Amino acid sequence: MTMQTIYDTIETVARDLYWKALKDIPADVRAALGRALETERKDGNATAGEVMFTIIRNVQTADEQDTLVCQDTGLAVYKLLVGSKLTLDLAEVKARVRRGCERATAEYPLRSNSVHPLTRKNTGTNTGEGLPIIKMDFVAGSSTLEIHMAPKGSGSENMSFLRMLNPSEGMKGIKKFVLQCIFESGARPCPPMIVGVGIGGTSDVAMQLAKEASTFREIGSSSLDPDMARLEAELLEKINMTGIGPQGLGGSTTALAVHIEWAHTHISQCPVAVNVQCWRGERASATITADGKATYHGAS
Ligand code: SF4
Repeated sequence: MTMQTIYDTIETVARDLYWKALKDIPADVRAALGRALETERKDGNATAGEVMFTIIRNVQTADEQDTLVCQDTGLAVYKLLVGSKLTLDLAEVKARVRRGCERATAEYPLRSNSVHPLTRKNTGTNTGEGLPIIKMDFVAGSSTLEIHMAPKGSGSENMSFLRMLNPSEGMKGIKKFVLQCIFESGARPCPPMIVGVGIGGTSDVAMQLAKEASTFREIGSSSLDPDMARLEAELLEKINMTGIGPQGLGGSTTALAVHIEWAHTHISQCPVAVNVQCWRGERASATITADGKATYHGAS
């Protein structure tokens, strides 16, 4: 096999993952939605139970009809984990991911959401200046390329927040800020939501951590840091006590999960970012080996 093969595969995978993420909700998200339905029924909240039932029916209908779960095709976010044992032209990799995104848009076809921020002119391709978003990281000792894809919908992405807290505000300040963000979000990000929190680093790093937490973490996974894991559990409990509930119509399930990603920070800083993901929790992934073979990871 020539090196061209792996680039062709990357392009195809980038295309297919966009479609797959829009149509096939991940198994952990489905399980969390099912638990939310049980909770609302157990609590005797007829409206919340009906909303959760409708959401789950929506997912089943998309399965049966092989169609999109929601009309918002989002902004394409790709996360690439490049094995250190692979020899790749990374500029070509990025170009192929972009091409895959364009092909997904043209061949399905998908609604294009990419517009110039001032003129609002649509490129028609879901690509453009800075789009798709392609993040790359490297994995020591690995000889595979992992591609993770998430089409980030606007209703939830608009619910993004950053505050540079004074370190003296401590844990109390962090909790207060996260809860303020949830109250401000209300029904707009289509709850039950997945709340991503980024703590530490610089302002831009905190936002990136929050996005990673909301978008790419498996629901039910806890932070490896015990203090962060405790904070995740406490915030989830408090958020679900707000009563915002499914689609903001009241209930016990405002959030399916709270995930925190963190980094060390400056002695005089405490950046905290919040990025909300809607119930759709859309993401898909695949692994590509050096010989150009792709394995798609099952969502359902
Ligand atoms: S927030 Fe999510 S579920 Fe709601 S309209 Fe946007 S993509 Fe769809």
